[in-house]
Amino acid sequence: MVKAVIIGAGMGGTSAALALRHIGFDVEIYEQVRENKPVGAAISVWSNGVKCLNHLGLEAQTAKLGGTMNSMSYINGLSGEVMCRFSMLPLIEAVGQRPYPIARAELQLMLMEKFGVDEIQFGKKMTAVADGADAASVRFADGSSASGDIVICADGAKSVGRDYVLGRSTQRRYAGYVNFNGLVAVDEAVGPATEWTTYVGEGKRVSVMPVAGNRFYFFFDTPEPEGLVFEPGTAKEILAAKFAHWTGGVRALIEAIDPAAVNRVEIFDVDPFDTWVRGRVALLGDAAHNTTPDIGQGGCSAMEDAVALQFAFQDHPNDPHAALLAYQAARTERAGELVLRARKRSDVTHAMDPAVTQAWYDKLREEDGSSILRGIADNIMGGPLTPSP
Ligand SMILES: Cc1cc2nc3c(=O)[nH]c(=O)nc-3n(C[C@H](O)[C@H](O)[C@H](O)COP(=O)(O)OP(=O)(O)OC[C@H]3O[C@@H](n4cnc5c(N)ncnc54)[C@H](O)[C@@H]3O)c2cc1C
Repeated sequence: MVKAVIIGAGMGGTSAALALRHIGFDVEIYEQVRENKPVGAAISVWSNGVKCLNHLGLEAQTAKLGGTMNSMSYINGLSGEVMCRFSMLPLIEAVGQRPYPIARAELQLMLMEKFGVDEIQFGKKMTAVADGADAASVRFADGSSASGDIVICADGAKSVGRDYVLGRSTQRRYAGYVNFNGLVAVDEAVGPATEWTTYVGEGKRVSVMPVAGNRFYFFFDTPEPEGLVFEPGTAKEILAAKFAHWTGGVRALIEAIDPAAVNRVEIFDVDPFDTWVRGRVALLGDAAHNTTPDIGQGGCSAMEDAVALQFAFQDHPNDPHAALLAYQAARTERAGELVLRARKRSDVTHAMDPAVTQAWYDKLREEDGSSILRGIADNIMGGPLTPSP
């Protein structure tokens, strides 16, 4: 039996664990945190990610946790003018699966429970990883170690495994903006209950998406210099000041939020790279392709990695080296492309060039939905379960 050691119990690591266990691997997961406390309110799991969760045997649970998004709108954040509003059903029909915004903690718990929460080894911070002739091994901060036929480093954006695989450290790139996010009860004054509503203006963005339980996942993007000091609990005052002159729906949202439960995240990404594998050690998820969240594909891409890893081992059952190289070949171009698309989208949304952003706002007023939905479909297609036509 092939033994896989997986570092990180995020959505990438747990998905990979389920995918490999499905083909009979002996899988161990090691996670640095002592308890399951995911940061971040929710994520949009686009149809490619949902197909991966379905593939992992989580179809019914995913649909239960997911919010129903039937339409999309863009609203001028300053005046309240509806720039465009359209149905998302043509997208769902085209790609064959509904997308689901899901509360992050619930998504994480669903994946962990499917694997077995008690089987995850918490409080294990990897400090070093090494390839070897017959096995790969890891060392943990508590002095213990583990080894397996393969080690999958799904250790997130600040990956230790990445430095080992690349043989150098990488610089993360600040994308120029900060994202405040959280969950709030659905309020039609902010947006319709089954709509993804986005307010735009001044290079800022305010968005709500439905998740299960009559809640909106909300986020505010605001361009800011890197490294500003943030006092936890002060998000409401900060947002009220930044959006004081914005339309009523945005002010109603700020009024409703619980400042103690708002996350503030500085957004970074990493230039795509093509080496994800060193012998028996491979990168997966943000460790391999850290992206800005602007097209909502980072987590979906991590789940695609997990499924692609399974397929690579099915194609090369007795050869870990060949399987990992096949995994790398299947994933680097697709994942890198999504990182660069997100970066481009981020620059337009956040007014890196104000004239380009103004042209986008003007275009939104002429939008009937078809070009936006085509763009989303292009992001969705190209993964292991969404082959490009
Ligand atoms: C604001 C924001 C919004 C986002 N929105 C979306 C969205 O809408 N849709 C989408 O698909 N994606 C979204 N993403 C991206 C998504 O969150 C990530 O791509 C996803 O979490 C990556 O999963 P992962 O398992 O690779 O990494 P992580 O989720 O970061 O998990 C890594 C795990 O490894 C553990 N770990 C790290 N180092 C070590 C170590 N040395 N030893 C042991 N364990 C370790 C960590 O504690 C963590 O549990 C968003 C990201 C942000 C920041």
